[in-house]
Amino acid sequence: MGSIKINKSLCKGCGLCVGACPKKILRLSETEMNAKGYFVTEIFEPEKCIGCASCAVICPDCVIEVER
Ligand code: SF4
Ligand code: SF4
Repeated sequence: MGSIKINKSLCKGCGLCVGACPKKILRLSETEMNAKGYFVTEIFEPEKCIGCASCAVICPDCVIEVER
């Protein structure tokens, strides 16, 4: 099991993490926009996170921090 922290203010909504998550529990929000004007990543089934860190590794802006 694992958990992630998303520093939403840094996210640019590129969606790379969404595609990288093997559990398919990340998505780009349709409602939450950050100060830069990007729709940010959100985790919608956090209890399914396995802490694999694929999302954190692929993010070009180091937005996601993983805890195991
Ligand atoms: S750590 Fe792995 S399972 Fe958890 S959200 Fe990131 S890619 Fe998905
Ligand atoms: S890869 Fe990083 S910048 Fe891109 S949507 Fe995911 S958290 Fe945001």
